[in-house]
Amino acid sequence: MPAPMPCWVPAYVGIGSNLDEPERQVAAAVEALAGLPETRLVSHSATLRNPPVGPQPQPEFFNAVAGLLTQLDPLALLDALLALERRQGRDRSTGLRWGPRRIDLDLLVYGAVTLDTERLTVPHPGIVSRNFVLLPLREIAPALRIPGLGPVWRLATAFDQ
Ligand code: ATP
Ligand code: MG
Ligand code: MG
Repeated sequence: MPAPMPCWVPAYVGIGSNLDEPERQVAAAVEALAGLPETRLVSHSATLRNPPVGPQPQPEFFNAVAGLLTQLDPLALLDALLALERRQGRDRSTGLRWGPRRIDLDLLVYGAVTLDTERLTVPHPGIVSRNFVLLPLREIAPALRIPGLGPVWRLATAFDQ
């Protein structure tokens, strides 16, 4: 029997940092994503500065979005992203929701999959309300359809002045 064909799924990752030279942290995360197993980094957006969300005051954020092709299943990809956060030194000990962080890697979209479990929700529920996600996503994937929500270019018009 022939070997099964590998299945490459397009996935998009939101990257954010507001600690420890955040612009450099975002660049390091992009490089780390390129090294994930069974995964190819296809594209990444420019890194944009954004005002912080969550408890104030905290430093401004730097955000970007990366586009991958991956053979990892959704939970394996989430685990790989959380492992990269740890490896890059994300400190979760404050337990503060939306607090300052060295690196945040969120799985925004995984192919056409919709999933809502305790560990993983895809598409990421913050996509439509976050300019710092939709604008960099539009830069690299304007025609991408967010399952259940529509194309990125249309969702992003909410943030055009
Ligand atoms: P937000 O998800 O609103 O941007 P956050 O990124 O600050 O908040 P984290 O502390 O990074 O939240 O993640 C907490 C948990 O969220 C993770 O341990 C993970 O299990 C869960 N989670 C659920 N869906 C996702 C997703 N699509 N991407 C990343 N983490 C997710
Ligand atoms: Mg996040
Ligand atoms: Mg996160």
